[in-house]
Amino acid sequence: MRIKILGSAAGGGFPQWNCACPNCRAVRAGTFPGKARTQAQVAVSADSYSWFLLGASPDLRAQIEAAPELHPREQPVGTAPRHSPISGAVLANADVDHTLGLLLLRELQPLRVYATHSIHRILTEDNSMYAMLQRFPGQLTWTDFKTETTFHLEDSAGRNSGLRCLAFPLGTHYPAYISQSRQSQLHQREASLGLIVESPSGKRLAYMPAVPQIDDALLKELETADLLLFDGTFWSDDELIRIQSSGESVGEGSGQTARQMGHVPVSSGEGSLEKLAQLRRPRKIYVHINNTNPMLNEAGPEHRQVREAGWEIAEDGWQLDL
Ligand SMILES: [Zn+2]
Repeated sequence: MRIKILGSAAGGGFPQWNCACPNCRAVRAGTFPGKARTQAQVAVSADSYSWFLLGASPDLRAQIEAAPELHPREQPVGTAPRHSPISGAVLANADVDHTLGLLLLRELQPLRVYATHSIHRILTEDNSMYAMLQRFPGQLTWTDFKTETTFHLEDSAGRNSGLRCLAFPLGTHYPAYISQSRQSQLHQREASLGLIVESPSGKRLAYMPAVPQIDDALLKELETADLLLFDGTFWSDDELIRIQSSGESVGEGSGQTARQMGHVPVSSGEGSLEKLAQLRRPRKIYVHINNTNPMLNEAGPEHRQVREAGWEIAEDGWQLDL
């Protein structure tokens, strides 16, 4: 299985358009000892020919252009020049930064999208723009999955990719654009998921971009993974509150703790560095990193602490093979 990290930042990217935090200011000034990043996006393939997206980020158009594997291939003479190696997508939640990219895939390309029934309903019943993906039968095929039940990833024509997927509930939070009355019609356990993708040979990728807490059941699941891409959104629980109170402008979610936003912080007691230190099997990589996170600074003590603990910090364009 080949895994491409097309984007490694949290929602908003790095730098974020309306953010003047020290990290974003420095990266714009060209003085930041670290890299800019696009919004989180992972693609997986069993054969390096047919690809599945994990989520669909708002930066997807540029991310596809930056990855030659995802470019359309030349079609036989006399046929339409439309093609994509992207067979479909698996959605872990209904966040804007995780689903907006579907709209960028609208140019009449057949795709299969896997989602829980609740997320499928949010996108197709509440957001009329997604009808652009269903202008003819067979354009976008929605396939609902149940959590904690393994399913095969197939393209829109039903061809099996060889990859299997398993999703399990991590959080009960729906995005802020979904009203309380709507939420009462949806299943809480279908709101926010972790994804396990298994290769034909049984190797396992765990993709966990939004983890509100780490319990024993999750630890047990993660110990079965060969590669872990884990929630690196915030360094500390009060990161956004402190930046806000310093008078600097930040975006969505300012004033909330990391845990209130559904993200266990990297540092501190009960943080992911400490709680996941006991994992022996997986290679451990932080993804979905918010622009305010000090571990983005490659010259700083937080970056060093993470690296010394055996973790890597994902960058756009990384390719990993399992
Ligand atoms: Zn910032």
